[in-house]
Amino acid sequence: MTAIVWHIHDLRTQDNPALTAAIEEYDSVIPLYVYAEDIGEASMWWLHHSLEALDSEYKTLGGKLILRKGEYEDVLKKVVNEVEADAIFCNHVFEPVFQKLFEKLTKKFADLDIQLHNGNYLSHPKDILNKSGDPYTVYSPFMRAFKKEYVHEKPLPKPSKIDVPRISSDALSSLHLLPKIRWDKEMESTWEIGSKAAHTSLSRFVKEALKEYKTMRDIPGYEGTSRLSPHLHFGEISPREIWEATKKIDGAGKDTFVNELIWREFAAYFLFHSPHAVRENWREQFDAFPWKANKTHLTAWQKGKTGYPIVDAGMRQLWATGWMHNRVRMIVGSFLIKDLLIDWKSGAQWFFDTLVDADLASNTLGWQWVAGSGPDAAPFFRIFNPILQGEKFDPEGDFVKTFCPELKNLPKKWIHKPFEASEEVLQDAGITLGEEYPHPLVDHKEARNFALAAFEKIKK
Ligand SMILES: Cc1cc2nc3c(=O)[nH]c(=O)nc-3n(C[C@H](O)[C@H](O)[C@H](O)COP(=O)(O)OP(=O)(O)OC[C@H]3O[C@@H](n4cnc5c(N)ncnc54)[C@H](O)[C@@H]3O)c2cc1C
Repeated sequence: MTAIVWHIHDLRTQDNPALTAAIEEYDSVIPLYVYAEDIGEASMWWLHHSLEALDSEYKTLGGKLILRKGEYEDVLKKVVNEVEADAIFCNHVFEPVFQKLFEKLTKKFADLDIQLHNGNYLSHPKDILNKSGDPYTVYSPFMRAFKKEYVHEKPLPKPSKIDVPRISSDALSSLHLLPKIRWDKEMESTWEIGSKAAHTSLSRFVKEALKEYKTMRDIPGYEGTSRLSPHLHFGEISPREIWEATKKIDGAGKDTFVNELIWREFAAYFLFHSPHAVRENWREQFDAFPWKANKTHLTAWQKGKTGYPIVDAGMRQLWATGWMHNRVRMIVGSFLIKDLLIDWKSGAQWFFDTLVDADLASNTLGWQWVAGSGPDAAPFFRIFNPILQGEKFDPEGDFVKTFCPELKNLPKKWIHKPFEASEEVLQDAGITLGEEYPHPLVDHKEARNFALAAFEKIKK
């Protein structure tokens, strides 16, 4: 009897409930990854290395990973027929496309044993409901209900061996996941990819940064967060393993970190219950917002050339490394939406293409939160001041100087507002505004007033 283990966002062999169950219940197992060409470029780059790492893991178990390119349904049908499979196992993905697909497959392969396990999240979105049986729309009560419900179990060990029948695989290189023009040099030096690397990052974080997480997580120039997000998105590590690694630690750092893991649960939960939120404002009143379709401003934002150093450093960090610090994601998001008045969907799209942790649920919730259009959102009138945010969270300008090196000689008094420095100061620092570093795209005060006036019109 043969089972297919369809890997989606679970590129690991340890603590993988679908894989463990398939190995226990079936004689032979086909670990399958289907590449359907529906992710951004930075994610493609990560995926290449992650698939390579997963294949190596399978080789140590005596098997191999089978890769196929094509539409999910077509490929699954083909592989089921090729090996006369009796079962398909996978770990839940709560995104709308996969929810529809799982429903379809259950009907289409009614005579197969279709098993959906929960290996990528700590909870199932159907299990946490309020007293009226409806989903929560606000994080805090969701978090409290989650903490009441959650029963931690020990993560599953890596299987000791796997019996994979002979079946052809597409070559990894034929998926063309790596960029033709090698823009990935800095990404390569930033990241170690795969399950082993994810566990090393987790151990480092728990040992060196977890205790201080509450205070240091907001400082972009300091490595105070775990940087586990891409590993979690691709499922190289499970949230249950992270919970296990931190469960014996007490203190404010640990509590805050756990709450962030629960934000990840909330994002998946939100998307499961509001699948339309990927493309639509959750609060309909935002449909009437007078967004500006200013391509020049959008490009300047994407390239990190807005003239506001904290915004530019963040956007350049994203471009260079495929990741951006959470505090800075909020600042650049606020700037795009509330200073440039560009629809959050353009920002979400750019993030989706350039983040190595691009995740439909967390990205959608993050952007709707910043815009004020989401369920549990920062109100629209809370507009981040990019100068004050920079001065508060990057007081020495370390972060700005790393990603905007042209500003490195500017005294810290001016590092977040070079446009307010005198000609003499700028000259001493070797900067001519409009040449080495751009003039600000907009005046923050004016832009803020404009945004608030626009918001007044749609406020209900
Ligand atoms: C506009 C915007 C877009 C975002 N897009 C994404 C995205 O595409 N993918 C993504 O994984 N996160 C996204 N986030 C959430 C957050 O910024 C990242 O998860 C975090 O910066 C990842 O860094 P870390 O692993 O060091 O996090 P840590 O601070 O170490 O947190 C641990 C883990 O908790 C989860 N987490 C932390 N904060 C959040 C959050 N606010 N929402 C959901 N999960 C969270 C992540 O899985 C993270 O790896 C977005 C936030 C904003 C404001």
